[in-house]
Formats: sequence, C-alpha cells, structure tokens
Amino acid sequence: DLWTARGHVRFEDVRFGYSDDRIILPDFSLDIPAGQTIALVGTTGAGKSTLAKLVSRFYDPTKGRVTLDDVDLRSLHPKDLRRAIVMVTQEAYLFSGTVADNIAFGKPDATLDEIIAAARAVGAHEFIEALPDGYGTDVNKRGGRVSAGQRQLISFARAFLADPAVLILDEATASLDIPSERQIQDALQTLLADRTAIIIAHRLSTVAIADRVLVMEHGRIIEDDTPEAL
Ligand code: ATP
Ligand code: MG
Repeated sequence: DLWTARGHVRFEDVRFGYSDDRIILPDFSLDIPAGQTIALVGTTGAGKSTLAKLVSRFYDPTKGRVTLDDVDLRSLHPKDLRRAIVMVTQEAYLFSGTVADNIAFGKPDATLDEIIAAARAVGAHEFIEALPDGYGTDVNKRGGRVSAGQRQLISFARAFLADPAVLILDEATASLDIPSERQIQDALQTLLADRTAIIIAHRLSTVAIADRVLVMEHGRIIEDDTPEAL
C-alpha cells in the first residue's frame, strides 16, 4: 500500500552547517501545518535555500530533526519521501527528451491524458500545442526552444502531476515578461491548492498569496506573520 502524507512539516531544534566551523542554522524550530503556504523571504545568505535543502533531504541536520507528519525524514522510505516532497528549483530545469517526458518525470507511468490534464491545470497546454510537435517536441531541438516562463510552466505541470503533499519552490529571480508573470501567478495558485508549500519568494505577488510570511536573517526567523500584517 502507498503511504499518503498529510503534509505537516516541522523543524525541531535543528542545527545545521555545511562545515563544523560555520553554522548556518544554529537552533531552528518551525511548525508548518498541513496545507499551509509559506513565503520565505530574507537577505541573501540568510539560509532560505538551506532550509529547503533540509526539507528535501539534500542534507540532514547535525542536531535535532525535520519531521513529516511527525515522522523523522531520516526514517522515511526514500520512495515515500520522493513522492511526498517535491522541490521545484530556480532554474526550472528541463531534461533532454520531449515536453511530455519532462512533465511525466517523476511519474513515468502517467498517460498522455494525465500529462495533458496537468498542463491544462497550470495553463501550459496552449503554448505546448503550438510547438512544432506539440507534446512530442524535443525541448533541446531547434524550434523546441521554450522561454524561461514556459520552462517554469512545464516544471509546474510536472509538480502538479506528481501531486506531492509538500511542495518546495525556489522562485526564479530572473524577470519574466508581463503576460507570463501573470500566467505563472495563476498557475501557482492552482499548484498550491490542497498541499503544503514552502516558497522562497522573490515576487510581491507571491508573498501576497501566502498564508504566512517568514522573514529570515542569519539562520533565524525574525518575523512570522500574515502578508497583510507585514
Ligand atoms: P539567496 O537569497 O542568495 O539564495 P539563501 O538565503 O538561500 O540566499 P543559502 O543558500 O541558504 O542562503 O546560504 C546560507 C549560507 O550557507 C551562505 O553563507 C552560503 O554561503 C552558505 N552555503 C550555501 N550552500 C553552501 C554549500 N553547498 N557549501 C558551503 N556553504 C554553503
Ligand atoms: Mg537561495
């Protein structure tokens, strides 16, 4: 049977540094109820990406623990972890292969109908259909080239299809053209529904749709409030 996570994430007295002589998170605690959307903001080097890497288990804490539904991430089966927690990176990286392959990455048994449904959900279907070979377009071939905004939408479709309990998004800093910025925002709303989300936010519009905004500085949370209050 497949284990389905609810998406309750907690940092319990976490200490972490990439090396022993430079601690990035000295003593970090944070409770994220299932379904909540967190916007994480703060100065460069504050530890935002480090936090994201601990949730996706790129790294483990030196002390303390990170839990999902009260289970230490280290105790989870890697397969369950990969299904429950998905990170969408800043580069919205595309793999060599077709657009369909790229959306189905992480769920290779997906049918074309499911792939199209995911693309439709995040508003990517129209531009994909307009590509030379539609969903069969090789993203690395001439003519298959997609813009930064479109790459982002493809990676959103991938995350939507994977349907994780917890989504981590390191938002792109690169500026997108206005229509796609708007499209990305709409797609984001759809993508965030019914799951826990931690977004390292660079856009004000993203901060505005969060349930809660955390401001980080030197590995600590210095503000924790609703977007309206901040
Ligand atoms: P930004 O807004 O620039 O992305 P950030 O808040 O995401 O910043 P982190 O990437 O978490 O910051 O970095 C926190 C600190 O950890 C920084 O001092 C950084 O230099 C250091 N750091 C990040 N990654 C590594 C690494 N792989 N090895 C060693 N130190 C690292
Ligand atoms: Mg970062």
